[in-house]
Amino acid sequence: MGGELRAQDAAVGVGGQAGTGAMSAVGHELAEKVGGLLAGGEVRMFLGYGAGRTALRVRPRHVLRPEGAAGLVWNEFCAPSLAKYLLDEQEEEGRVGVLVKTCDLRAMKRLVADRRVDRGRVLLVGVGCAGVVDAGKVEALLVEPVVEAGVQDGKLVLQTRSGVRELPREEYLLERCLHCEDPNPREVDLLVGPEVAPWAARPRDYAEVAEVTAMGAAGRAAYWDRQFARCLRCFACRNVCPACSCRECSLEVWEPMWLPREVSVSEQYMFHFTRAFHVAGRCVDCGECERVCPVSIPLMKLNRALQKEIQELFGVERPWEPEEKEPLAMYTPDDPDFH
Ligand code: SF4
Ligand code: SF4
Repeated sequence: MGGELRAQDAAVGVGGQAGTGAMSAVGHELAEKVGGLLAGGEVRMFLGYGAGRTALRVRPRHVLRPEGAAGLVWNEFCAPSLAKYLLDEQEEEGRVGVLVKTCDLRAMKRLVADRRVDRGRVLLVGVGCAGVVDAGKVEALLVEPVVEAGVQDGKLVLQTRSGVRELPREEYLLERCLHCEDPNPREVDLLVGPEVAPWAARPRDYAEVAEVTAMGAAGRAAYWDRQFARCLRCFACRNVCPACSCRECSLEVWEPMWLPREVSVSEQYMFHFTRAFHVAGRCVDCGECERVCPVSIPLMKLNRALQKEIQELFGVERPWEPEEKEPLAMYTPDDPDFH
């Protein structure tokens, strides 16, 4: 690729709009603005992305000094939500800046609504996002490490040691990007980069839920047995989840031991059903739990099944939006099911 293509150097939206150089320009603007915020004392720290260990990955970058802002990156591999990192910052004085895409903003709102993050102590820097690549999908396909990656003319262009591989970008995006209704975050304190043109978002039709429902009771049990049997109980899904923010998780306490340490399929059910019910009506549909799962358990099928129920039973149009009423968190004496 000879330097002609870098992750930051080209961007093509889901809808196909080309924007060569757009992402590197956004990266420069971001570094400049963050440097200014830190130098002016408006934030004590900034949370953004830095280069990862491979060309397909970025990692969270905590920037404490203005000169550190130069290490920030913005590219089509900036998938992780940074919202949950703010929990560790709530004890210290001063505002923290954080970079948010539209989907990350929902996670932020969840943490604020649950009073786990103080909105007054966060400076939200929004960035329009043309969709991010699911690195896991690409890695599953290639045996060799990717040394350079980027997007050109709607294609994901990957340089490995043995040559260049081109893949249709849209097929390798995170599933949540295909459903994104507005790629530009609103209600933020500062924006970087230009507005991104929206694309025809796929409706959330719960096709994945219907697929499991159609298996029938015995088929569903066999399906989830197979999925849960692979769970390592690493808790990555819980740790990344903005709706799972208890200071002490009931699944890890020793007294009473709600979740025995024994690893068996029935205990895996206990873990997954407890977690799914704890986030029911509060899940922001970010898909981070599924993205970080090291064994690719399709956790969103569970979350979306509950989302669908909430939509149908309580008439909540967009149950993934934290502002919407949360029927499972409300009490009213007029409830017809009240006993
Ligand atoms: S991230 Fe995956 S493997 Fe880890 S606890 Fe969650 S479901 Fe199990
Ligand atoms: S359950 Fe998964 S999709 Fe829902 S908020 Fe938590 S991490 Fe996001």
